[in-house]
Amino acid sequence: MSVTDEILVSVKGVSRFYGDLCAVNNLSFNIHRGEVLGLLGPNGAGKSTTIQMITGNLAPSFGQISINSIDILDRPKKAKQHLGYLPEHPPIYKEFTVDEYLRFCAKLHHIKHSERQEAINIAKQRCSLNEVGKRLIGNLSKGFQQRVGIAQAIIHSPPVVILDEPTVGLDPIQIREIRSLIRELGEDHSVILSTHILPEVTTTCDKVLIINKGSIVLTETTEDLQKRMQSSSLFVGFHQAPNAEELHKFAGVDSVSTTKEGYFRIHHNPDIDPSEQIVLKSVEQGWRLIEIRPEQLSLEEVFVDITTTEEHSSINNDDVMVEAVYS
Ligand code: ATP
Repeated sequence: MSVTDEILVSVKGVSRFYGDLCAVNNLSFNIHRGEVLGLLGPNGAGKSTTIQMITGNLAPSFGQISINSIDILDRPKKAKQHLGYLPEHPPIYKEFTVDEYLRFCAKLHHIKHSERQEAINIAKQRCSLNEVGKRLIGNLSKGFQQRVGIAQAIIHSPPVVILDEPTVGLDPIQIREIRSLIRELGEDHSVILSTHILPEVTTTCDKVLIINKGSIVLTETTEDLQKRMQSSSLFVGFHQAPNAEELHKFAGVDSVSTTKEGYFRIHHNPDIDPSEQIVLKSVEQGWRLIEIRPEQLSLEEVFVDITTTEEHSSINNDDVMVEAVYS
């Protein structure tokens, strides 16, 4: 299923103070059905506080949160029926078998007796737990324990699923499996994924929300974020290098700097890529081109730029953020 217009999580002007400390400052965002939102931020940014408020475990100091149009403060029980939550430390009982534990979770969620087995089967199927139903949770690998944690979060088929750092401590194969499970969940649930792992966002999420010091510093689609990572500079090297002034003459070139002998970094207008002209001219002039490639910002560089640029820490304006990244 693709992202729809239906808003399943609405966060409006939410703030949370701990004494004098403002941990979350006037946060507003929506999540639509079918959307996987990545919540990113450095340590202490306010991610856990935000998740605690959305899951109804912590009251905001100000603002309003609705889950599937139900206000979590006014009708917490009802709102929580529409939520599945995997906390950072999964609430699993290691002395239970997987089947016993999921049966217990189904009861807690008030799934009717006659529908419980079906709900357990579906959750096990989705999380690839069919083979381990009779095994003690404590004897399972960390990746499988995490799947059990996700199974308890989706057993009542909630429209909204919240996963707090679901891949921490997993090996690379388990990480891939859990990420693909999250993508699958995103097909018929709205998912909020809190993570410190930056590539997780580009591989799993439709939308990214970065918070820093309690405020939103960036909110955009993963597609736009990837465009933002396309920097407008080229790295070129020649055996018979021209001088920098020659390279400066190409249309669109803003500046040229030498990196080592024969190699240059060329900054250009994002709408005018001089690569082709440079290649043609190099052949014509015998510059003997060795290398030409666009330089890319990594997500890590974008993240560090955004979250360490003090003056932008409380700005929620996409245009200004573009400046922050490229300045
Ligand atoms: P991390 O990635 O390290 O888990 P986070 O983004 O989840 O960090 P929060 O745990 O939400 O951040 O914390 C935000 C701020 O609120 C921090 O400065 C933290 O010290 C403070 N804080 C969190 N919980 C409490 C509390 N119960 N009492 C006082 N201050 C708190």
